[in-house]
Parts: sequence; C-alpha cells; structure tokens
Amino acid sequence: MFYTVEVAETKFTILRRYQNLKPIGSGAQGIVCSAYDSESGQNVAIKKLSRPFQNTTHAKRAYREFKLMRLVNHKNIIGLLNAFTPQRTLEEFQDVYLVMELMDANLCQVIQMDLDHERMSYLLYQMLCGIKHLHSAGIIHRDLKPSNIVVKSDCTLKILDFGLARTAGTNFAMTPYVVTRYYRAPEVILGMGYTDNVDLWSVGCIMGEMIRGTVLFPGTDHIDQWNKIIEQLGTPSPEFMQRLQPSVRSYVENRPRYDGYRFERLFPDMLFPADSTEHAKLTAAEARDLLSKMLVVDQEKRISVDEALNHDYIKVWWDASEVEAPAPAPYDHHIDEREHTVDQWKELIYQEVLEYESERNGFITAPPAPPPPPPPPPAQHNGPDT
Ligand code: AMP
Repeated sequence: MFYTVEVAETKFTILRRYQNLKPIGSGAQGIVCSAYDSESGQNVAIKKLSRPFQNTTHAKRAYREFKLMRLVNHKNIIGLLNAFTPQRTLEEFQDVYLVMELMDANLCQVIQMDLDHERMSYLLYQMLCGIKHLHSAGIIHRDLKPSNIVVKSDCTLKILDFGLARTAGTNFAMTPYVVTRYYRAPEVILGMGYTDNVDLWSVGCIMGEMIRGTVLFPGTDHIDQWNKIIEQLGTPSPEFMQRLQPSVRSYVENRPRYDGYRFERLFPDMLFPADSTEHAKLTAAEARDLLSKMLVVDQEKRISVDEALNHDYIKVWWDASEVEAPAPAPYDHHIDEREHTVDQWKELIYQEVLEYESERNGFITAPPAPPPPPPPPPAQHNGPDT
C-alpha cells in the first residue's frame, strides 16, 4: 500500500496512489509536496507532519488543525481530501500525512504582482468569506498572514490554517522556525481582549502590502512592531490606553507621541492600479477608504467582517452561498485547553488518524446503537412517582 520517496531531504512514506512528488513549501509543521493522485486523477498537496507529538506545542497544533480541517467545509478554507499514517501500531507511530486540494501559490508570491482592482477586491472578498465562516464556528483566527493563504491562477483563494488556539500557547518550541508576527493586531501584540474584528487588522495589513509592495509593520519584535504601527497610524486615544494591563500601559503611554499620517499620504494615488472601467466602485478612493477602516488601532473603532463584506469595494462580488454558507458544527474550545504529556498526545493523534481512516473507508468502528426499547405498558403502580 505504501512506498517511500525522498523529497527535499525528507522521506515521504505515502500511499501508492500518490505519485510524482515535488516539494512546494515548508512551514512550522513540515514539508509540503504536490503529487498526482492516480485514483482521482487530481493533483493534490501532501503535508507531512513529522512526529507531531514531539513536544506539546507541535502536538496541540497538529491535533487542533486536524480536528478543524475535518469540521470546516467552505470553498475559501483548505479542504482535507485524505489523511493517513504509514505506521500500523501506536508504538511505531511517527508521522501523519494530510492530503489537501492543491493550489498554485501562496499570497506572498501574489503580493509581489501588480494586481488590478478586480483581482485585489476579489481576493479580499474571498478572505472575508473564509474568515466569516470560521467566525460562525467560533474560530477567531488572530494570525492570518500571506504564507498561510493560497491562491490559484484563476484567482480563487483558500485559507490554509486556523490560527492561534484560544489559550495562550508558546511558539518557543517551534524554534528554529521564525514566526511571522507582522500581521498580528495591536490587541494581540499588547495582550488585550479581542473580538471577531481582530482578523480585519490582518486583512488590512495584507491589503496595504498589496498596494505598497512591502510589509507595512515589519517589527523585529513586539516593541519594534508597536513603534512601526504608531509612527504611521498615530498614538491611540486615552480611552484605548485605559483598556491596557497596567504594565503594558505604562510602556505604551511612555512612548513618544505620534500624530500619524493621513491615508492619502500613507497610500498615495500613484501606488494604486488604474480605476476599473467595468465596476464603478473599484477605484483607488474606495480601496483606500476600506483600508482606512481596517487599519484602525482601536478595535472598538475598527470595521467588522460584515461591514467589510458590505463595503462598496467588496460587495461587487457578493454571493449569498459564499457569504452566508451554513455554519459548521461549533468548535469545542476545550480541545485548546487540554494539557497532556507527549505520550498522551501521541495516542490522541494516533486515535484521531485511525478514526478518520476508518470513517473514510466506511469501516464500522463501534457496534451500531441498539434499537430503542418498546414503550413501557401503561403504569400500574400506585406508589408515588419517582
Ligand atoms: P504550511 O506548512 O501549511 O504552513 O504550508 C507551507 C507552505 O506550503 C505554504 O506557504 C504554501 O506555499 C505551501 N502550501 C501548503 N499547502 C498548500 C496547498 N494545499 N496548495 C499549495 N501550496 C500549499
């Protein structure tokens, strides 16, 4: 059933149906390859999670990712086509392979291109549809970035991951992998409470980068990043400061005061593509207006996902089946709060993969529930009801 092939100095032990592997990317969790699926005749992406239980950070992430990929079904979120492990016992268990739809490039590559308004607004619309769908399952991403968004040459877009777990985790164990934080909202950087529109900040950063061609707030660390934000957008109001934890507040309040720049100055006309001749609302002025509503430091004054979807620059693409797709089953956040040893994670992840494999292959893992008992005959007793 399985064979082994070496790609990008990594051994892939995969089902025979997947052929012609070529490396296409790598992330914190491992290497991603493209492959030809000889059973479906489709090209696919295969991600190898090498020893996902190697430490609790990796394990939690892999487990959550896998659970959520199984739960969510929306055209703007990457879909799982298959998952398997080549090892057949818990003792031998090492690696998980996730088979996904294959896309052509990630957004880092697309941002470098000169996009016209049609393409830019359509990409943003799809991001917003995907985000809205995640929100409908109670998943607030908080870590959207171009490397985790993939596109096809026909301009379709999918979000690849599910962001940060609700409980504060540490990415320390992910070293030497460098975590990109440029797109994280002020409330994430400053450790404040957050709501759905935390993800709109990231969309704003991505849109701004599409226009400017460079990262808007490339901080070397949280402090540097905060400086880059306020230098451009200005020091936030005293009401915002009041919502900060005392230690953070004293740092933030003691920074020099910046007035920030107007959006016409931050994103001058010359940076935008020519206004659309087909859609009257796809203009530099509308694009800048949307940007100025997403890149707002104070989350209470920032636009919401629904408002963004209804913005003139976006709503040209409105389709109820995409915007208002039925919500997935709500996500059980207790998963994020679970603390386990590495051995327990190993077993949990192994079980999860086995469950997926058997469900997919139509095996019956549990005996069917017995038929309900026949209704009892009318009560004869005279005693008190219990
Ligand atoms: P990840 O490990 O999920 O962070 O993915 C790392 C990189 O692999 C991404 O930035 C993409 O460039 C690429 N990639 C991952 N999944 C896919 C996919 N389904 N289609 C195309 N490229 C992908």
